[in-house]
Amino acid sequence: MTSARDLEIAELHKELTNIRQGLGALVRHNERIWAGFRQIEIGMIGAQSLREVVEILSAQIPALFPHVACVSLACLDPARELTQLLQAAPGAAVPGSFVVVSPEQLAALDVASGKPRLGPSDPALVERLFPDCDRRELGSMALIPLKLRGQLIGCLNQASRDPGHFSKTSATDLIEHLAAVTAMCIDNAVNHERQKIDGLTDALTGIANRRLFDHRLREEISHWARHGRPLSCILADIDRFKEINDRHGHGVGDQVLRDVAAALARNLRFGDVLARYGGEEFCLLLPATTAAVGAAIAERMRQGVAALAFGDDRWHVTVSVGLACLEGNFRPPAEDVGGWLVEQADAALYRAKQSGRNKVIVSMPA
Ligand code: GH3
Ligand code: MG
Ligand code: MG
Repeated sequence: MTSARDLEIAELHKELTNIRQGLGALVRHNERIWAGFRQIEIGMIGAQSLREVVEILSAQIPALFPHVACVSLACLDPARELTQLLQAAPGAAVPGSFVVVSPEQLAALDVASGKPRLGPSDPALVERLFPDCDRRELGSMALIPLKLRGQLIGCLNQASRDPGHFSKTSATDLIEHLAAVTAMCIDNAVNHERQKIDGLTDALTGIANRRLFDHRLREEISHWARHGRPLSCILADIDRFKEINDRHGHGVGDQVLRDVAAALARNLRFGDVLARYGGEEFCLLLPATTAAVGAAIAERMRQGVAALAFGDDRWHVTVSVGLACLEGNFRPPAEDVGGWLVEQADAALYRAKQSGRNKVIVSMPA
């Protein structure tokens, strides 16, 4: 016979088993969340560009946490540096999950205290913070401030269709940790990109330097060798630049270099390269461009520079231009094809100088 006490013990036993199972499930659930956050953080720590950081956050958070429908990174960008880095790759657009906010807009998000804001989604905020997301029926959102060296730099934002997913009572330690790592990784990636850009661009004009040009020349030569795609190379040298320096001073000379670089850049297409090759000499690579088309582009560049006007008395500068091209079945008589191409353009430039300057000469392979 089972006594009432035995029944009570059996009941207690059942209850304990339930609690143990419940706790086990909770621990496993938390471990999964932890593992998800760790995976995102490890990805971001290895990121070498701001774009990678943005892409990891916007792709991996919803993939690992199915309740999260939208993710975005809202950042202050007073000097437009972050935007420019995101646009730096050829043809790259700023990802829709990256949003620039003004200091006033960031203040209006109500995260300046450094504390996350969790709760029901606010339609006006949702529209601003998740422009690239399907915003129908978003129920709750979490805005986590991003702080770097004590300064508020932006906000990591998530939204869920589940109205109860982000609530004032949700634990926030993990997302706050993610936000701290995100801020550090943004800083790290931006510094990395800055260094890379500093090593490959000319500080005075902002265009590519010779190192970047030589790198792209090797790439384009190998394209030509594999696919026979024509390749035009243009050298442009400012005429009598020494006199400009002597007459107007080095500062004005520097401004002329910047303006000439900008005038040459106006004629570029996607994939073209413009570099400062030496003091007052510029080099251009025009992939998939025949000598005939290249010559027309070079002529437009020459005219564009000649149309610039400087100083109160509107004086002008001119450039002499040499062009060489790899096209058709022609094979250069040299192993270093890139070096040969630049030499040919230089020889044509020399002829342009010799024959009166301010003109374009196209090198004709013998
Ligand atoms: P040419 O028509 O034959 O090319 O004559 P040029 O005077 O342009 O050529 P030259 O090679 O005699 O002089 C080039 C000048 O460019 C000399 C140098 O001081 C100047 N230069 C080179 N780099 C810079 C720079 O970064 N800033 C300024 N202001 N001048 C520079
Ligand atoms: Mg010159
Ligand atoms: Mg020169």
